[in-house]
Amino acid sequence: MTAQPETFAHSCSDCGLLNCYRRDKRFPDFCLTETTDRALVERSADTYRGDGPEARMAHAAAEVEGTYYGKLTRVEEIIAFANRIGATRIGIATCIGLIEETRIFTRILKAHGLQSYTVLCKVGSVDKCDVGIPDSLKVKQGSYEAVCNPVLQAELLNEQKTDLNVIVGLCVGHDSLFIKHSAAPVTTLITKDRVTGHNPAAALYTSGFYYQRLLHPTSKL
Ligand code: SF4
Repeated sequence: MTAQPETFAHSCSDCGLLNCYRRDKRFPDFCLTETTDRALVERSADTYRGDGPEARMAHAAAEVEGTYYGKLTRVEEIIAFANRIGATRIGIATCIGLIEETRIFTRILKAHGLQSYTVLCKVGSVDKCDVGIPDSLKVKQGSYEAVCNPVLQAELLNEQKTDLNVIVGLCVGHDSLFIKHSAAPVTTLITKDRVTGHNPAAALYTSGFYYQRLLHPTSKL
C-alpha cells in the first residue's frame, strides 16, 4: 500500500473547468480523470455494462434522468426508478418528525402499484441512557427518550426483503448507520435539516449573507 500524504491534494471541488462532463474545455493539471489509472476507470465502467445489479441501477437512473429531466418531482423519480429496477417492495426508514410526510408517501406509492413497509427511527424503544447517552443530551431531559435505532430499522427492512429502501428524514449519522446496514439499495426522499425546512442547500445559497458563520466559524462544532 502506498503511503497517503497527510493533506489532500487538489480535487474536483478546486476545478473550474469540469471538462470531464462534455470535453469542451481542457483538463486542469491535477485532474482526477487524467491522473487516475485507466484500468481503474475501466473497472468502474465495467460495473455499468451487462445486466448485473449495478448495471441495472445505473441504466435505470440514466433512463429516469434522460426521460424526465426537470419534469418529475423526486417523489415521482423514486417511483420511476423503482419501476425500472423491478422493485415492488419499498422499505421506508422514517424519522418520527416526518411521519406525516411518510404516511402521504405510502399513499402515493400505493396509488402507483407499489407496496411499502415503514420502520420508524424510534423502533425498539430503547432509552438513550440505556446505551450510554447521558440524560443531559436528551432533547427533553429527565424524560424517557428512545434512541434512534437505524440498525434495527435496516434489519427489520432486511427481514421484509424489501427491494429498495427510502430514507425519509433520518438524522445525520443515523442515515449513515442505516445505509451501512441496509441489504437493499438506499435512496433518500427527504434529507433532514431542522432549521431550513429540510432544504440543506438553503444554508449554502445564503452563506454569503445570512449564514456567513458557515464560512467564518468562531468555534469548533
Ligand atoms: S475530473 Fe478533472 S475535469 Fe472533472 S471536475 Fe475533476 S478535476 Fe475537473
